[in-house]
Amino acid sequence: MPRDLPEAPALLRDIFGFDAFRPGQGEIVEAVADGQNTLAIMPTGGGKSLCFQLPALMRPGVTVVISPLIALMRDQVRGLREAGVAAGALTSANTEDETNAVWDQLRDGSLKLLYLAPERLASTGTQRMLAQAGVSLIAVDEAHCVSQWGHDFRPDYLRIGELRRALDVPLAAFTATADQETRDEIVTRLFDGVPPKSFLRGFDRPNIHLAFAPKDGPRAQILRFAAARKGRSGIVYCGTRAKTETLAQALREDGHPAVAYHGGMEPDQRRAVEDRFATEDGLIVVATVAFGMGVDKPDIRWVAHADLPKSIEAYYQEIGRAGRDGAPAETLTLFGADDIRLRRAQIDEGLAPSDRRAADHGRLNALLGLAEALGCRRRVLLGYFGETAEPCGNCDLCDSPPETFDGTDAVRKALSAALRTGESFGAGHLIDILTGNATDKVRQRGHDGLPTFGVGQELKRGEWQAVFRQIMGRDLMRPDPERHGALVMTEAALPVLRGEEQVELRRDAMDRARDRRPAVK
Ligand code: ADP
Ligand code: ZN
Repeated sequence: MPRDLPEAPALLRDIFGFDAFRPGQGEIVEAVADGQNTLAIMPTGGGKSLCFQLPALMRPGVTVVISPLIALMRDQVRGLREAGVAAGALTSANTEDETNAVWDQLRDGSLKLLYLAPERLASTGTQRMLAQAGVSLIAVDEAHCVSQWGHDFRPDYLRIGELRRALDVPLAAFTATADQETRDEIVTRLFDGVPPKSFLRGFDRPNIHLAFAPKDGPRAQILRFAAARKGRSGIVYCGTRAKTETLAQALREDGHPAVAYHGGMEPDQRRAVEDRFATEDGLIVVATVAFGMGVDKPDIRWVAHADLPKSIEAYYQEIGRAGRDGAPAETLTLFGADDIRLRRAQIDEGLAPSDRRAADHGRLNALLGLAEALGCRRRVLLGYFGETAEPCGNCDLCDSPPETFDGTDAVRKALSAALRTGESFGAGHLIDILTGNATDKVRQRGHDGLPTFGVGQELKRGEWQAVFRQIMGRDLMRPDPERHGALVMTEAALPVLRGEEQVELRRDAMDRARDRRPAVK
């Protein structure tokens, strides 16, 4: 985000509960909040509504939202109200009380978003009311409905241009329909032919190379990655403040210019790092997610994650800081079982209501799915944001496709070990059972007498850890934070247990794990 809109990230977090913008959202929010006429084309599911809801909170007065679907409007109004935002709708589905309440809030100037069905625009009463209501923005959802040649044509949409002229306020139009004719028609009918600021770019950033790697001596992995890019500006994101300091130190010892950056530093120290990064070639900033809001350096050549980000949105936003100039840029994201445990625990220990927590787990799952992807990562990533893509040729999995094998048998053994022990133990103990390792704890609990005891001796301990990591990555089991991370099965595990679904596992994860000494538990 630009420096002049400091409240956007706070609103994003506090009102909407998101930790990062989705691809494209930040730029659109900036333009709309700034009062520019805008046309944004985003794929369905890309997060359009936020692009007018957030600016509505940043602008004075009320934002009028025109949308063709009453159910959708009511949904959004309910969501906004639950988040504490003064929003209302005027539609044919309103009760009289609802309508009166909206009028009252309009009159006393407290309403921030007014959803309006397009047919309302035909009424002179509505127009008079809007002229007096202090409207500062018109947002048009599904703007392609203005196209007479499209199949969604809504004649009342033709009145929107008139409304814009009458109120003389900026207009932001949104649609998922990207063809040139529709776009031209939107510009003609909504903007009187004066081209608005347009966001027609898809989400893809094809110049950014995508890569993930399981943690295997993470500090050395980051140092190797940086060494191969010596002299080029980069960012290393870390999960903790302490780690930014130690990793920056290690990079300096390796001969790189590197500085730490985190929210615990004094504002003027932080500003100094930002300024140095902007002006100095080849500097490495080792930072927490606090670094990024004011950073618009176009030639950041690489971004590495020393720890797994917290969601697929956060991941995309953070790697998206690389290569803004369009020249090739590289990324590497490390992940390990500890990251997964930590991120899950953070979500569960947060104060968010349960449906938001479930959504957060979903966004983390999406990132883990990307980490353990079996095919082109860009395809998986763009798929999550609603775009389809061909294999990209610019990710580690396109470079060298992973070998997979049918891991159903191993996964079922792991699941049944958890089931037979009452879903009360973590991976370490379950692996002891599977490999027939009669530790004190195993014997005390009588787990050496279980039918699952020793059924997994065909895999080494490290390989079982790889299996468990992939199980967690696919959300077949989750650690229960209230019981010291005991692994509990999810719904998704049931078809696997019942033999209705197979699970492909990555061979490379197993190979890497095979010859390593057992991890100390
Ligand atoms: P559309 O573009 O289809 O109108 P929506 O605005 O309904 O999409 O958003 C689609 C989904 O994406 C919603 O569930 C919304 O909560 C979610 N979403 C939007 N923005 C973000 C974000 N920055 N981070 C996480 N989730 C988001
Ligand atoms: Zn690819």
